[in-house]
Amino acid sequence: MDLLARPAEDPADSRTYLLNQKTAQDYRTAVSESVARVGAKIAGTDRPFTGITVDGLAPTVSGIDLDTPLHDTAAALDELEEVYLRDAVYFHHPRYLAHLNCPVVIPALVGEVVLSAVNSSLDTWDQSAGGTLIERRLVDWTAERIGLGEAADGIFTSGGSQSNLQAMLLARDEACRRALTGAGVPSPEPGTPAPSRLTDVLPRLRILTSECSHFSIRKSATLLGMGAEAVISVPSDEHKRMRTADLADELARCHRDGLIPMAVVATAGTTDFGSIDPLPGIAELCDRYGAWMHVDAAYGCGLLVSRRRALLAGIERADSVTVDYHKSFFQPVSSSAVLVRDRATLRHVTYHADYLNPRRMAERRIPNQVDKSIQTTRRFDALKLWLTLRTMGAAAVGELFDDVIDRAAEAWKLLHDDPRFSVVVEPQLSTLVFRYVPSTDQDPELCDRVNLHARDALFASGDAIVAGTVVDGRHHLKFTLLNPETTLEDIAAVLDLIAEHAGAYLAEQPRPALSAR
Ligand SMILES: *Cc1c(COP(=O)(O)O)cnc(C)c1O
Repeated sequence: MDLLARPAEDPADSRTYLLNQKTAQDYRTAVSESVARVGAKIAGTDRPFTGITVDGLAPTVSGIDLDTPLHDTAAALDELEEVYLRDAVYFHHPRYLAHLNCPVVIPALVGEVVLSAVNSSLDTWDQSAGGTLIERRLVDWTAERIGLGEAADGIFTSGGSQSNLQAMLLARDEACRRALTGAGVPSPEPGTPAPSRLTDVLPRLRILTSECSHFSIRKSATLLGMGAEAVISVPSDEHKRMRTADLADELARCHRDGLIPMAVVATAGTTDFGSIDPLPGIAELCDRYGAWMHVDAAYGCGLLVSRRRALLAGIERADSVTVDYHKSFFQPVSSSAVLVRDRATLRHVTYHADYLNPRRMAERRIPNQVDKSIQTTRRFDALKLWLTLRTMGAAAVGELFDDVIDRAAEAWKLLHDDPRFSVVVEPQLSTLVFRYVPSTDQDPELCDRVNLHARDALFASGDAIVAGTVVDGRHHLKFTLLNPETTLEDIAAVLDLIAEHAGAYLAEQPRPALSAR
């Protein structure tokens, strides 16, 4: 197409797309139209997924000419139906049982509408005003629920991975400061020289975490220049909780070898098993060895508002905590925070820019959240949680989480009593890791393939979505229950579907494999 031959666009036209005093009515119409369509979509989906393949969908997306706009909201939404909405994965559906994605609460969606239109940026007071104060109230509220004490603080982040990264950064810089000043570290073994330079300290830093902890801890170590080998993996017990005795051994070994245990990362709700590490015992050891205690409660944070709060006992002793509201608080992505016991430690991410947050603003006590964040421009995600707490309340959120934990306990019994499956651990939260086992003498390789096939076939059918993981080198299936609308009947029906797909696969195997039965 000859671009030069195009008529010049009328500048008045392009301005009609800007939200302002003159276009507020257009905004209402366009957004109402999109809300109506999503509402209809949510009401009308009878499966979590259509089963579309990458090859089936990619041509539709590539076929869109991004340089030829439609100039019409309804037309753009019609097109979006084809490229996205029709084949999206719907987390609100009761047979979506795969990852840590929750159905979202409506008050939070109201918050999403408000925050994106007003578009506050939470880096400075002069870009957000009340937004900054609301975020700070929610940080304080969360820290209080955890029990972190008077000096606590924190910041909203994009997710648990970023929260963990920031916590590890603070822990690293605190460990360096303490190693160089000799403050609060156990006296070294005789013969170990006290480090005098940062370059001597860095290679000696170690992070200790259980073998079941989230991969973002290892990734953080790499991002922080420590290398993945700076992470010491502590074995878990038969309930997939960190073995405190092994942690004690590893800490003693670090001490003997002149290594610095910069942080111990406990997980309150492991991603695969929902297991909660023994927080009080870990806190004791952190005290003894002067290690920063981080609790990754990305998944388990919903317990803070549930009737099972006691499962988090010991979390109040943490130096930092990760919470993902977009997991167990039923918030839309993104909504997460990192909390710290001592607000002074946040100075490790404080940098002053003349144009943005000059030092004199801090002196005048003007709250600039960028001083505590590793991001600069930042969404007002806190508003979603605010409207959730103000509309439905924390206890109602906790009930939703309690419901899915109850359901997981019932589903565990179902699986445990079903000879077609073996289930790994009885859940503390809401995940179930299990494996289809055709018969006890079946070859484990074949069993792996059967489980992989069943998961893929189920995904391709779109009838339900389940996750998979590897336990002791063997492929397993996983349910993550976060939808209180998922019934035990749904779970039983999905187990039957898995068994059907698995059975069909086995029936297609060559004779020798079958004769092993
Ligand atoms: C999900 C999860 C994370 C990562 O959180 P994102 O929000 O996905 O970045 C970290 N830790 C645990 C235990 C998790 O379950």
